[in-house]
Amino acid sequence: MTRATPQGMRRARRAWAAALRKHIKRGHVYIPEIQHDYWCTIYTNERVCTCNPDRVLKDIEGRTLARVEGAGPYNPLELVGAMK
Ligand SMILES: [Zn+2]
Repeated sequence: MTRATPQGMRRARRAWAAALRKHIKRGHVYIPEIQHDYWCTIYTNERVCTCNPDRVLKDIEGRTLARVEGAGPYNPLELVGAMK
């Protein structure tokens, strides 16, 4: 797990959004997998991500299409935004 810097986070978020768009455009069925740290408060009643999860895009057979690290805390809306 890499330490998130603001610049690195922006770059990683763009890379993640681009990966989502690319695979959506090609009509693939894909499964985004957000790999949180065990201490992340997403697992508590707050359900808010406070870690720096790896974002992995997998196809239906479980193959990794894209992996983005260091994009900062996960926001569920980032998946919605990529689908517009
Ligand atoms: Zn998290």
